[in-house]
Amino acid sequence: MKKLAFLLAVLTVVTIMAVPGFAASGQYYSGYWGVTSNAFIAVDGKVLTLERNPVIIDGRILVAARTTFQVLGVTTEWYPSYGVIEMSKGDKSITMSIGLKVAYTDRSVKYMEAPPILVNGTVMVPIRFVAEAFGENVGWDAKNEIAYIGRQPTEIPSRGGLTNNRTYKVVIDAGHGGTQSGAVYGGIKEKDLNLDIAKRLNGLLIAEGIKTYMTRDNDATVGLYTRSALANNVDADLLVSVHNNAGNSKTTGSMTLYHPDSSKKKGNLTAYEFAKIVQKNLNKTLKSKDMGVIQRPNLAVLRTSNMPAVIAEIGYMTNSAELSKLKTDSYKQQAAEALRDAVLESLEKMYK
Ligand SMILES: [Zn+2]
Repeated sequence: MKKLAFLLAVLTVVTIMAVPGFAASGQYYSGYWGVTSNAFIAVDGKVLTLERNPVIIDGRILVAARTTFQVLGVTTEWYPSYGVIEMSKGDKSITMSIGLKVAYTDRSVKYMEAPPILVNGTVMVPIRFVAEAFGENVGWDAKNEIAYIGRQPTEIPSRGGLTNNRTYKVVIDAGHGGTQSGAVYGGIKEKDLNLDIAKRLNGLLIAEGIKTYMTRDNDATVGLYTRSALANNVDADLLVSVHNNAGNSKTTGSMTLYHPDSSKKKGNLTAYEFAKIVQKNLNKTLKSKDMGVIQRPNLAVLRTSNMPAVIAEIGYMTNSAELSKLKTDSYKQQAAEALRDAVLESLEKMYK
């Protein structure tokens, strides 16, 4: 991590504000390839709490428009049916369109190096372009990974305790795959749903500087013992297996499965405690019904892995309302964010 941090620092000094992304962890946003970043955003010396992580496209940082710029007194109007954003303060204004690199400001057309994008309903705009259009300067604190408008912040909040030089290793297991579809309802195969959420989680954990391993990143058939063997071989801190549930049509909610053996402990964290943290975060973020943490001594993946491991059953595919949610990008993203939060909280407890 130290080496990587140094490399990041050097590169960002060379091209101010250009933060290299992790090619493997990106996804398309409004037609552009972007990666999520765990950089802090600060305005006038204060680090902001934002509803979304910044996204980096072509080395440019994009931030949540409204919450970032309202601190400066900038008003943001969003016209979803036209994909148009209008930001204004006093006699200055900028008009931009989602996915387009042209902006109208100061009575002229200007070109942006990255376009505004939409991430799960949040309008994200290039921080430097917008700040400069309103006469503000933008700086980059490479050491603390903070993009700031105006004054450089002196108080740096902690990043969830994962700031030491340890390399955290997490194995992400997308349940089923290949010839094993898992549950199939409403034309949706569980294996595809699991993989989609697992890939999102992978990107989010890489953005936190965690070393990840996926048991599959495509529609491959993977044996149950291969999954735990990977986790054991890389001496993973945690194993997260992503699944979705099936039951009767009325049952809904999230459930987390774990192995009761107390030897599956790492640092200060047992498998049971890991399961509790995962379940809590799923219920909190997805607002899903709490179906509890359940002991499953006979499931191969849990039984044969040496570290705290869980099977996270995100929701019930057999309930039509829950399946409709599971089909949406925003719900899958929230599920991945809940699992990311659970992993961070668990790693912090593990090494405290
Ligand atoms: Zn399953």
